[in-house]
Amino acid sequence: MRKKIVAGNWKMNKTLPEGIQLAEEVNEKVKALQVPEVKVILGTPFIHLAEVSKIVDPAIISISAQNCATEASGAYTGEISAAMVASTGSTHVILGHSERRSYYGETDAILVKKVAQALANQLEIIFCIGEVLAEREAGKHFEVVKSQLENGLFQLSPEEFSHIILAYEPVWAIGTGKTATSAQAQEMHAFIRKVLTEKYGKEIAENTSILYGGSCNAKNADELFSNPDVDGGLIGGASLKAEDFSLIIAAR
Ligand code: 13P
Repeated sequence: MRKKIVAGNWKMNKTLPEGIQLAEEVNEKVKALQVPEVKVILGTPFIHLAEVSKIVDPAIISISAQNCATEASGAYTGEISAAMVASTGSTHVILGHSERRSYYGETDAILVKKVAQALANQLEIIFCIGEVLAEREAGKHFEVVKSQLENGLFQLSPEEFSHIILAYEPVWAIGTGKTATSAQAQEMHAFIRKVLTEKYGKEIAENTSILYGGSCNAKNADELFSNPDVDGGLIGGASLKAEDFSLIIAAR
């Protein structure tokens, strides 16, 4: 059965010394919590990956990049390949975050290539989907999320899809302090699981973790995570302080 997952997305925050300190603090807190039933992931900037991998206990915390290149290697100045990410000891990569889709022009076609690179290098993928406010207000949120799944992921075989963790992040809730209600989250997560069932069958749909992201914090995590189809969270701002992040890990 699927496991509860709490993943931090540090985004473009923390210098290397600050990131090392945060990873040390999170490692201590997670050790003290003793929650083997929760999978904890730290999504750090590229430059932190190798250092943070040496700090945390891999039995309790996994490390994730926040992006990878579409190509395997070569003359792509400034890019970081999935193989490079994997070589740091990282086991995961976040792909399709709305900030990358909107600020860096990541289309579904680009994401298909990144997903293939990540899988070819044995990385588990935290794949983000979610609608913008205008789409929700127009009643198009289900349609948008379904199309992101179809166009970014449904080329995968069932075996390949078993390496996907989904993160539903309504864009209007990211960094705004305006979280989706518990009912809105559950409604969308149940819809996503229905779409997965239609494509890959009940077993894979039931085994896929679907995380909620968007202004999730120590105060609202309990309620959000108590929904049957919400399997944990992808946490931005509240993952930057070990105390807040550990309270979210402990939420149930
Ligand atoms: P916030 O938790 O800061 O709203 O960010 C959510 C997010 O985008 C995680 O990927």
